[in-house]
Amino acid sequence: MRNGVFALGKYSVGVGDRFAHQAKAQLQACIQARDAGLTVIPVWNKSNREHAIIGSEPSSVRQAADAAVKALHWTAPYFCDADHITLETVGRFMSSCDFFTIDVADAIGRPALSADIDAFVKRRRDMLGIIQLAGIDEAFAITVEDLTQTARKFLAAVKQAGEVYRAIEAAKGTGRFLPEISMDETDNAQSPIELLIILAAIADEGIPIRTIAPKFSGRFNKGVDYCGDVAQFEREFALDMAAIAYAIERFGLPKDLKLSVHSGSDKFSIYPAIHACMKRFDSGVHLKTAGTTWLEELIGLAESSGDALSLAKEIYAEAYAHRDELCAPYAAVIDIDPTKLPSPEQVRGWSSDQYSSALRHVQSNPAHNSSFRQLLHVGFKIAAKMGDRYLNLLEANEAVIARNVTENLYERHIAPVFLGRKG
Ligand SMILES: [Zn+2]
Repeated sequence: MRNGVFALGKYSVGVGDRFAHQAKAQLQACIQARDAGLTVIPVWNKSNREHAIIGSEPSSVRQAADAAVKALHWTAPYFCDADHITLETVGRFMSSCDFFTIDVADAIGRPALSADIDAFVKRRRDMLGIIQLAGIDEAFAITVEDLTQTARKFLAAVKQAGEVYRAIEAAKGTGRFLPEISMDETDNAQSPIELLIILAAIADEGIPIRTIAPKFSGRFNKGVDYCGDVAQFEREFALDMAAIAYAIERFGLPKDLKLSVHSGSDKFSIYPAIHACMKRFDSGVHLKTAGTTWLEELIGLAESSGDALSLAKEIYAEAYAHRDELCAPYAAVIDIDPTKLPSPEQVRGWSSDQYSSALRHVQSNPAHNSSFRQLLHVGFKIAAKMGDRYLNLLEANEAVIARNVTENLYERHIAPVFLGRKG
């Protein structure tokens, strides 16, 4: 086995690395956590959609991860995540990945067979009545109606997850990969009681999931902070954690099952709530961040001045010119104010410091511009098209970029979530 035992550990961080050049710098952040006394397992995640846009193969993620682990003598486990895959897309991830995020959001609400629904409700009669989750004051009542409604909405999705799980199992072998089920890319948050019922269905389907990614309430826009009621989020998150503990005990799901937070990156304002819940329930979390490492590459290029700064400006000019087509696929998860976008002419006159301050996600800095940041966040296609021109400058300015990548991941994500430090 590549990693010895296939266990994710209590604390883990999913990192994106669009151009497969920052694995070492990302791993360095986990080494800093280890030096601070905490093992945080790195998972390199990349979705099929992202591979399609970049024109990359899953094997490149594996190669970059393996090389980083070797170079930095990382001895704890590490994984490569086939992020948001389905039966149609999982094939090319089989040999390179050992973590699979089975996305069933599209199947939510698809009608299940009424025989399946009836069988589920019958089998799970023991859930009816009052449920008291450990560590939660209020009690919950589950009725036949709750079981039926939830099965109607989610059973087809869980069955679909079972199909994908078994396809991976046939290819990889039982226990030789970590399965996650994701339901985050959907409109409505699942309630904790729905989560509990979904977990019962997952157990019935025989999927030994290690992480589950529900949709939480509030907005999780790409690369910017959380938008929503943080206190409400914390209440919900605590209930979800308690529901998972209950499900492990009652439904026989894996003991190390934990929540996966698909953050879309940089949900700084909920990090203290996540940390507080982890303490309260003595529970772990998998924190999945999206592709903001690419923005740290741009910051590093801008800081490097000369050709590198010019390229960073050129990328912005291109992104600005193509902003409608770049933003369209992400319309639901970005919130750009066009009047806040500087013109490419303005940016052309910027210093290294002006560019990096506008882009770097330090909300207290008045020069920070979240519209500028979000446009560049979805603009990675521009850099992908530049090919070697972009990659060569990444390599030429590796030290400055790596410093930004490590500092961002450690100081702004790992330390606040896992160590409870102020970001
Ligand atoms: Zn997701």
